[in-house]
Amino acid sequence: MGFTESRECGTDAGMSELMRLCLEGPRPRGEWPPSRLLGRYYGGRPGPTMIVFGGIHGNEPAGVHALSRVFEVLATHRLNMNGQLIGLAGNRPALAENRRFLDEDLNRIWGPERVDSPPGQTREVGEQQALRTIVDELAGSQPDPLVLLDLHTTSGTGPAFCGMIDSYRNRQLAKSLPLPTIIGFDDYVHGAMLPHYHRAGHTCIAIEGGQHQLPETVDRLESAIWIVAGAAGLFEQSRGQELVGAHHQRLAQAATGLPGMIRNYYRHPVEDGDGFVMLPGFKNFTPVTAGQHLADCHAGPVRAPFGGYLLMPLYQPGGHDGFFVAKPVSKARTLIADSLRGPLFRA
Ligand SMILES: [Zn+2]
Repeated sequence: MGFTESRECGTDAGMSELMRLCLEGPRPRGEWPPSRLLGRYYGGRPGPTMIVFGGIHGNEPAGVHALSRVFEVLATHRLNMNGQLIGLAGNRPALAENRRFLDEDLNRIWGPERVDSPPGQTREVGEQQALRTIVDELAGSQPDPLVLLDLHTTSGTGPAFCGMIDSYRNRQLAKSLPLPTIIGFDDYVHGAMLPHYHRAGHTCIAIEGGQHQLPETVDRLESAIWIVAGAAGLFEQSRGQELVGAHHQRLAQAATGLPGMIRNYYRHPVEDGDGFVMLPGFKNFTPVTAGQHLADCHAGPVRAPFGGYLLMPLYQPGGHDGFFVAKPVSKARTLIADSLRGPLFRA
């Protein structure tokens, strides 16, 4: 799978510093790990800046491949676009080794106490600072908040879903995707990247595309990029909207029969050396009942604390989240929340 050679379309004054940071020189097609800048498409018309991250976890290359496909299509068809789309590779040294991380999890060091860690503290801090420099420069060059999309995959199989902090603007973007939306991860997972940018006022959602290595995971993530770009206003009144429609259909077919919105209420923490082993056969959205035997560790069986949907069962070494348990959010509650938040936060 190659990377687009035509990385840039159109011109834009003031972006030379970004390009200097992103481009470490021309890279051959398909070189791995990819360059930091996976692609940039500037439509030549005013509009939002959307940044998509692939491979924040190094064993999740599907997001990088999905971005590569999107930039190939944009460059080939020269689609009209408002604003710009930028793709960034996350943890490049970990992508090179197909490991979730090398020294520490890049998606757990963005809490207020860690986000200004000294340079060189760990290899992931170096990656964090490179990403921050690029995103902060882009944010500083735009009058409007950025739209950020973070692409992930899971060790277990199952349908794709969207994860977000529950705010009005995030919700409007998530609603464009025909996928279940999970809220409440931020109550149980500390130091992820998107909450940092949410606190800075940007619109942020994450997609879990499916199992790390499956081809359909790349398809789903690609579709999600097109749909979110459409919802963010990048393709208004352009041929790109037709593509967005086709991708919407593809993603909707993969998500039939799943709940619309669910809230996470539980995270099972995994410590190094506690012998956590998930029982086989669980997927994202497997229904579980209270007390159900889900995993084993040295201290004994690990059971579901209550009934609900199992999310992200851990079937790989190197993670500290054993599994999550979520429950559906009623449609009535969602509508009431939207009607209250709309007038307050639409501005
Ligand atoms: Zn991930």
